[in-house]
Amino acid sequence: MSPIKAPRGTKDTFSPEINSWQLIERISSEVLELANYKEIRTPIFEHSELYTKSLGQVTDVVQKEMYSFQDRSERNLTLRPEGTAGVIRSFIEHKLYVNPLPYRVWYCGPMFRYERPQAGRQRQFHQLGLECIGILDPRIDAEIINLALNVLENLKIPNLSLEINSLGSSETRTYYKEALYNYFNNYISDLDTESQMRLQNNPLRLLDSKDTKIKALLEEAPSLLDFLDNDSQIHFNLVCQYLNSLSIRYTINPLLVRGLDYYNKTTFEIKSSSLGSQDTLCGGGRYDGLIQSLGGPELPAIGWAMGIERLLLSIPTNNQNIANLDCYIITLGEKAKILAFSILNQLRNSNLKVDISFYDSNIQKQIRRANQLNATTCIIIGDEEIQKEIVVLKWLKIQKQEEVSLNKLDNVAYKILSS
Ligand code: ATP
Ligand code: MG
Repeated sequence: MSPIKAPRGTKDTFSPEINSWQLIERISSEVLELANYKEIRTPIFEHSELYTKSLGQVTDVVQKEMYSFQDRSERNLTLRPEGTAGVIRSFIEHKLYVNPLPYRVWYCGPMFRYERPQAGRQRQFHQLGLECIGILDPRIDAEIINLALNVLENLKIPNLSLEINSLGSSETRTYYKEALYNYFNNYISDLDTESQMRLQNNPLRLLDSKDTKIKALLEEAPSLLDFLDNDSQIHFNLVCQYLNSLSIRYTINPLLVRGLDYYNKTTFEIKSSSLGSQDTLCGGGRYDGLIQSLGGPELPAIGWAMGIERLLLSIPTNNQNIANLDCYIITLGEKAKILAFSILNQLRNSNLKVDISFYDSNIQKQIRRANQLNATTCIIIGDEEIQKEIVVLKWLKIQKQEEVSLNKLDNVAYKILSS
């Protein structure tokens, strides 16, 4: 029988890569907590309706990427494809809007989308994200963009670039969609079926098309920024001013529309040119209408999400899998094993990183192993040592050793720590 493999598009994470994960988790929680964002954990599956209602029926995620299933009671459930909908569902369900706003949270966890796996694109992938609910103030837009950049800069991700745009109000988009439709309709026979579908269902999706013909046509196409309503224009200008005040560099990209339907006003993406074709690390924007459309009060909100797998591609991993032990315990004979086992426990309780040999090989071999594990010291216990009621404490890097009497074992931890 051939062994079972992990499902396509999923990945096991273990050492040394796990070190980069832990670094990402540590740095992001430090940066976000300092800005008064609190962690939230929502379920990994939700009612399918939550996503079909919020993300938009004609988005790629809803049309072809959701992992949906019926449970044994025939409930329609979906493994979460993104984090925002769950956070908003929770915010409404627990009536958290009765508390003073803004409600600021961050999350980190697995998301699921049925996509073609490639570098930086998986079926189970992970996002770090944040949401800020309740304040329609351009300072918040600048704050969250700044936080995303802070996380990435602290992780030393090279060659970052920020693009921003405004999608305006829903009226803006209605007028703009119409203008875009009329423009592309003149070239309908030049479009492939995919683009024709986009033109019919949601012409905005043509803006981020990879098709070369569409890209060429876009150069002459009407620009979204010319359609902005007054309110969105003022908001966008202020966001730019606040970004300037933080010396954040950005490009305004009027073609930047996000893949999900709930966005309005500010949208942005952060890319790293050191990544290949999946170069978008972080995407986000305002979604002022979402809370109300999910049955909550009329409150504005904004957020972003970044793909951890893509961060990992740009963080240099230290490929060495070294233990860096404080001490490695080496034994010879059965009696020694029993004594050593309790010393192991005692040293670990003294906050030392200690491991023990499980092989009955000769002492030289076991010392070699201690060196491989980059242990600072080793403790050697054989029959002779037991008879003399001592253990040998040996410093591996400075070739020094010392006998420690069994009734002075308490000193061992101190000696190791102070070496
Ligand atoms: P893309 O254009 O790369 O498909 P998206 O617009 O679908 O991205 P969002 O829904 O905005 O992505 O998610 C935010 C971030 O999550 C992306 O910028 C990316 O870093 C990451 N991401 C999205 N889908 C995947 C995936 N299948 N595998 C790994 N990371 C992903
Ligand atoms: Mg996608």
